Amino acid sequence: MSQKLDIAKIPFPKVVLQPLKGLSHTTVGATIYKHLEIMLERNEANHAEMEEAYSQLLDILLKAFISRTTKGSSLQAQLNLIMLHLSPPLSKPELITLKNCFEACYEQMEMTPAHTSMEESIEPISANHPAHHDEKLTPGTTQQKQDVLITQSPITHEPTFQERRRIPRNESVSNNAVDSAYKRHLHEKKKTIVEIQQNLAQQLNDTKHRNEEFGMLLNGELHTLQEANSQKEIDLSRKTLIIEVKKLLTAHHEMSNQFNNARQYLDRIAMDSQELNDELDRVHLLSLTDELTELPNRRAFMRRLEDEIGRVQRYGNDLPLVLIDLDGFKSINDQYGHTAGDKVLRLYSENILSIFRHHDMVARYGGEEFAVLLPNTDAEGALSAVRKVQRQVAKHATEHNGVMIPTPTFSAGIAHYQLGETPTEIIERADTALYRAKHLGRNRIEVASKDEPRTAKHKEGAAFF
Ligand code: GH3
Ligand code: MG
Ligand code: MG
Repeated sequence: MSQKLDIAKIPFPKVVLQPLKGLSHTTVGATIYKHLEIMLERNEANHAEMEEAYSQLLDILLKAFISRTTKGSSLQAQLNLIMLHLSPPLSKPELITLKNCFEACYEQMEMTPAHTSMEESIEPISANHPAHHDEKLTPGTTQQKQDVLITQSPITHEPTFQERRRIPRNESVSNNAVDSAYKRHLHEKKKTIVEIQQNLAQQLNDTKHRNEEFGMLLNGELHTLQEANSQKEIDLSRKTLIIEVKKLLTAHHEMSNQFNNARQYLDRIAMDSQELNDELDRVHLLSLTDELTELPNRRAFMRRLEDEIGRVQRYGNDLPLVLIDLDGFKSINDQYGHTAGDKVLRLYSENILSIFRHHDMVARYGGEEFAVLLPNTDAEGALSAVRKVQRQVAKHATEHNGVMIPTPTFSAGIAHYQLGETPTEIIERADTALYRAKHLGRNRIEVASKDEPRTAKHKEGAAFF
């Protein structure tokens, strides 16, 4: 078979018979050739009709799925990809891919009731569809799980105060269930795209190999035909030829369809993958940031602490860690409401804690607690930095519904890193010092001693937790 033929433009029977052109030189050969041509043309016409009907059914089914997905969502992009890629006749691997994709869609959809139009458009088709004969549709809802996940993503959904309260003290605001469900969802989508891509590559490879095999067979038969001496031999060879050419026609058809679509399909995959990667980056960034104060969250703080400890162990620099807890913060919520409390927390991050130097790391460690790392700062420097921040408190107030709310003071515990300590150990020493500051009357700074007990007494239930 000729690799140079533009198979998209030449009718299939002609393409397939191209390698047998030599047959026309003899009378018997010309008859066989004509015979094959007529047979292939008929075959082609029947095939085209079936394909048309089949592709319409497939289109309706895919459109029905697409209508259920959120506009612009990755699921919708994926279904569009399938629609673009799958054009009949479908090979077995293609049918498997299609079935897997539909199963994945159903898995996501069955959590929620189906849209009426979806029920109407899918039910009659599912009975006939080859990739669907053993599947049951789940009717009944207004929105699918996919939509819920996307609309509740951390990008658009700011947790309410009640939601934040439900988060354990040591968990960051953005590190909640919705956040991780959304991330899981994105990772799954990415995985599916990679799988589809691999599947397509495999299909193309299979078709290529099949064509090569048929090509070799045909060559052999052509040779036998040319060497044939008796009518019997010619007849036998003719039969084999007819069978092989039929197979070749199907394989050729598959391959040309796949090559025609593959380019576009792979472009779409690349685009979709890129979108998913960008989204994952954004989610990753958000998962390190506290949404209320826009400060790094506890997770980000712990990472930085580990890095800094690594540096101290190599270069031996100073590394003080400060834990700050607002005094009597609960009474602000009680007196002015939680929105006012939120404003006070923002004021702290924007106007008070911002006094720390640029390369210090200020993080929201918990509800009304902040943690600060001051790399390369000695004991005296750390103390004076915290005092400077303390002096800022009285300079600011929060306006809420026409009322000026005085800024609450804070208590702080400072611990200096000691070689060999783990991140948890230095935090626990700072915590114990903070507890002491509270215990000694609040609005004060306490420095942890080297052998400060690491189990803070307040763990048994002190007021500031
Ligand atoms: P102490 O001086 O002992 O630290 O007293 P406190 O009132 O500051 O401490 P307590 O642990 O009793 O209360 C902390 C309060 O902080 C409880 C919680 O309602 C509030 N809080 C935690 N996170 C948020 C938040 O994101 N927004 C608002 N508005 N309040 C929060
Ligand atoms: Mg407090
Ligand atoms: Mg507290």
